[in-house]
Amino acid sequence: MHLPANFHVIERGWLSANQIYLWSNGFLDVIDSGFCTHQAQTVDLLNLQMKSLPDISPRFLINTHLHSDHCGGNAALLDAYGFKLLVPFAEFDAVQDWDLAKLGFSDLGQPCPIFSAFGSYQPETVLTLGDLDWEIHQAPGHEDEAQLLFNPEYKILISGDALWEKGFGALFPNDQGFSNFEGALSTLELITELQPEVVVPGHGGVFSDVSAALAFAQNRLSYLRSNPDRNLIHVANVLLKFKLLEWQSCQNMLALDWFQNTLMLQKIATILNLSIHDLYQQVVNSLIKANAIRLKDGLLLNT
Ligand SMILES: [Zn+2]
Repeated sequence: MHLPANFHVIERGWLSANQIYLWSNGFLDVIDSGFCTHQAQTVDLLNLQMKSLPDISPRFLINTHLHSDHCGGNAALLDAYGFKLLVPFAEFDAVQDWDLAKLGFSDLGQPCPIFSAFGSYQPETVLTLGDLDWEIHQAPGHEDEAQLLFNPEYKILISGDALWEKGFGALFPNDQGFSNFEGALSTLELITELQPEVVVPGHGGVFSDVSAALAFAQNRLSYLRSNPDRNLIHVANVLLKFKLLEWQSCQNMLALDWFQNTLMLQKIATILNLSIHDLYQQVVNSLIKANAIRLKDGLLLNT
């Protein structure tokens, strides 16, 4: 796998998205900032990198998309280092107005400290980070406003949650209850056309067997698309598992309370014609069966 010398990937756990550092000519750029409960670690990791690069100044902080595990450390990094934050073009106004209905953190029941952006970056343009040029491409599906960054010289793709080595981020339903399967497919087709040789995903390790990852993702997408209800249950499972990653453990009754008050989960229960309580039970049972959580003495535990 051939990566440039001034390009460094920090692989984080699943609660925080991976981060990428790029540097050149005395400037350091950073892509994504992790989840808010890890923000001290995010700042510490950056401190280490800064110390290893003499005479370096922070420049741009970029978010591939505005999910709480990709932008939850923005506030801390902006505060500590004064980066210029660039967000996807279509979300710039929502960030500046801190419009929670549009940003979706509260819909998903996830915290994210408030931040403001310096500017935005948009599809069909080229952004220079470090000393590398990155083509920007729209990547609908998991998040319709998400953007991919592709460097044609090294054929590196920064995919966010549009493509992982084994799958992609959950396909959340819109207000009408539909997930963007078409968009997710078009994004996988776009990646096929770009022919990356290395993919830096938002979660999990950097990988180079891109055709295997694309085949896996297309199978997964067909499987979810063939039964949209199954996709919705998967989304609900992901949201509770993510919450348990954040909490690590929680009283079952408090987890139910969070579940009942989370708009996305209310929406899914309505579409599936289930009570929110029945949906909760179904999700807990399915996560226990998958060994993703445990229930012990009235406590839900992350595993
Ligand atoms: Zn995401």
